Amino acid sequence: MTPEPAAQPDPFPRLLGSYGGHAAGPLVLSIGGMHGNEPAGVLALQQVLRDLHASHLPFRGRFVGLAGNRAALARGRRYIDQDFNRLWSPERVQRLKRQERSADTGAEDAEQRELLEEIEAQLTRRQGPVVFLDLHTTSAAGRPFVVIGDTLLNRRFAFRLRAAVILGLEEQLEGTLLNYLSERGHVAIGFEAGQHAAPSAVENHVAAIWSVLATAGCIPTTAVPAPSERRPAVVEIRHHHLIQDGDAFVMQPGFTNFQPVRRGQLLAHDRHGPIRAAESGQILMPLYQGQGADGFFVVRAVRPVWLGLAAWLRRLRLERLLPALPGVRRHPDLAATLTIDLRIARWYGLELFHLLGFRKKRSRAGKLIVSRRWHEPGAFEEWTDPEVVNTHEDQTCTSKT
Ligand SMILES: [Zn+2]
Repeated sequence: MTPEPAAQPDPFPRLLGSYGGHAAGPLVLSIGGMHGNEPAGVLALQQVLRDLHASHLPFRGRFVGLAGNRAALARGRRYIDQDFNRLWSPERVQRLKRQERSADTGAEDAEQRELLEEIEAQLTRRQGPVVFLDLHTTSAAGRPFVVIGDTLLNRRFAFRLRAAVILGLEEQLEGTLLNYLSERGHVAIGFEAGQHAAPSAVENHVAAIWSVLATAGCIPTTAVPAPSERRPAVVEIRHHHLIQDGDAFVMQPGFTNFQPVRRGQLLAHDRHGPIRAAESGQILMPLYQGQGADGFFVVRAVRPVWLGLAAWLRRLRLERLLPALPGVRRHPDLAATLTIDLRIARWYGLELFHLLGFRKKRSRAGKLIVSRRWHEPGAFEEWTDPEVVNTHEDQTCTSKT
């Protein structure tokens, strides 16, 4: 009789592990594998957790690694029924919480319920501000990049990752977990580490996790390589090609992230014909996999003077004057939200609101709705290493209004 084979350990448990929790401090919550064909983030979290436990490094706060879409990770697919990283609108989350399990419509409902419970449990037991780090990879090759909503505190974390920083993606993608946690006032950083299967993607994720732990003040900054003095490139989304069902979208082969493209250049085909670049810039996330609704993005560099101006205007809290402009009103129900009548306020574009720290929520029937990004009061002012706080020019926006 042959012995029963030993049960294999689950390669993707929901809770990958945790470290610290003895000294009060930030909660760094990091998720790998929100997309099941992107296991590099999970592997990196497991590696950092192993190294932390082996080193017994003193730690302020707590670090938690979670697996995202476990069913899709087990099958190596982006998702099973629905893109797991488009399901996190506050309305959908509320609906899911009320919904009976028997009413679930796909594999991702159960995944989301479980992940949400785990996230809520971790948030409840925290003893400090929260940093969320979402680990992804892309189907195209190319150097890593960071995705943030443009707050000065998010910038502080992003600039230390030594990778290009993308602004404005959150206005294009509805229902990401990054937006969900960001809108609750937490620091939220998305990190795209390179191509799905590239060994360097795991290494890049590992380096990003250590950098975020150091910037959060969980570990001494001396425990990680010093970030380069040069500010990384900052780009903004200029164009987003959204694929509709049945489009038969096919990207032209060979594009890599940040490859320059000229206006009119052939980028892809679908059933309507050729798709050409609407403007010149750099291509980002060209789609080279079957699943996914984002064909590609075109980005363009943000001038450093603009970034400096934004920091300066926000320190002066000039956004408080916006409701005095013709055509701009406070939203009657939502905090830190403005309604802009575009017929009256057509002289100042979305750029003005971006400069002052707002993001576009929606635009409909001549009305633009923007809401101010915010962080929890006091986040990271008292916890971080004074050296980290003082080497940057910025100040956290600490109020909801
Ligand atoms: Zn992804």
